[in-house]
Amino acid sequence: MIPWGRVGFPPRRGKPGPDPSKTVEKKPVPLDFERADLEREVAALGAKPFHGRQVFRWLWRKGTSEFDQMTDLGRELRAELAGHFSDAAPVVESRQTSADGTTKFLIRLADGRHIESVYIPDTPAQTFCVSTQVGCAMACAFCLTGKMGLVRHLTAGEIAGQVRALAHETGLANSAFNIVLMGMGEPLHNYDATMKALRILADEEGLAVPPRRVTLSTVGLVPAIEKLASEPLMPNLAISLHATTDEQRSQIVPINRKYSLEDLIAACKRLPVGKRRRITFEYVLLEGVNDTPADARRLVRLLDGIKAKVNLLPLNEAPGIAFTRPSDDRVNAFARILADRGVIVSVRRSRGRDIRAACGQLIVEGERSSAAQRLGKQMGTGSFSTDSGS
Ligand code: SAH
Repeated sequence: MIPWGRVGFPPRRGKPGPDPSKTVEKKPVPLDFERADLEREVAALGAKPFHGRQVFRWLWRKGTSEFDQMTDLGRELRAELAGHFSDAAPVVESRQTSADGTTKFLIRLADGRHIESVYIPDTPAQTFCVSTQVGCAMACAFCLTGKMGLVRHLTAGEIAGQVRALAHETGLANSAFNIVLMGMGEPLHNYDATMKALRILADEEGLAVPPRRVTLSTVGLVPAIEKLASEPLMPNLAISLHATTDEQRSQIVPINRKYSLEDLIAACKRLPVGKRRRITFEYVLLEGVNDTPADARRLVRLLDGIKAKVNLLPLNEAPGIAFTRPSDDRVNAFARILADRGVIVSVRRSRGRDIRAACGQLIVEGERSSAAQRLGKQMGTGSFSTDSGS
């Protein structure tokens, strides 16, 4: 028996760790600043506001945190900035590339913790999948990251900094790319940092990623979804639905005990979705659990009246996950029922499964050794190891 693989255990009450920018590093971290704030901070040192804008451009467009390299600033100012600010930044420690080109990056944070981010090429856009927390508190029964529990929230600079690191590593910093907040963590559980990261990323003086190129995937934290509606930079939304009755959903997505399906669907209906935008509903298919024709028909009824599209995710299996991936035939039969009733549906082709970069497979060893991680290690299942790299 695999105790942590059983369905229905409650969400962990993991308290977010202390804010690393306050405890690990006393100096302000430039990557954590929106441009206007950085301009003010730099001006307070006696420089001109445009110097702050120059620093912002170096940080995000050129991808450097080294004041030494910011050659259009005077030598004295550079020295002053280097003394005032920290150069803390998420850095790529190692990478693994899948046969299909998907590349998983192990990223080291300033406090020595690790997260994973993924580059998914040609889908057809270039896409970066980034994390919002170290671990996750939501404990969805089929998700490997959920087995870690929450270690800590990421700061805005750490969230946006992953995009910076990947964009510069892949040579795409000056191209159009998409961002999906589908890595480790629940973005709406780390709401303020996530939204600030999106504002930093959208800045025209930086990477200039418009919100329509960003998709935020959430387990369904209803009050936070409502708050999103008032955001000036509202990303596309993906809801991890995964089930069509409260009984079923509470078993596999424990947060459903707090925010019921009815509340979640009602919140989605209230969201102002732009003319061409649709809300994506992600639905992980677990054989014999939520993949029957009756489930498919209930899903159609549930989404009635919402501008929706459904993204089916056949389970990515992993050790410690006590579910089975349905056959392609079952997946297709499920998709057909939706399509025949006029629901837009796609099946997510898993990318990077051979390197464990696929959905729900991101887990970092060495943060807090959980039973699932120890099991993964024993079975030699190639999660990143912090000491051996890729
Ligand atoms: N916390 C966010 C982001 C999670 S990852 C959320 O819940 O939406 C993005 C998607 O991958 C989610 O829909 C998640 O439920 C799904 N996922 C998690 N584990 C999976 C697995 N083993 N196989 C397939 N999809 C999985």
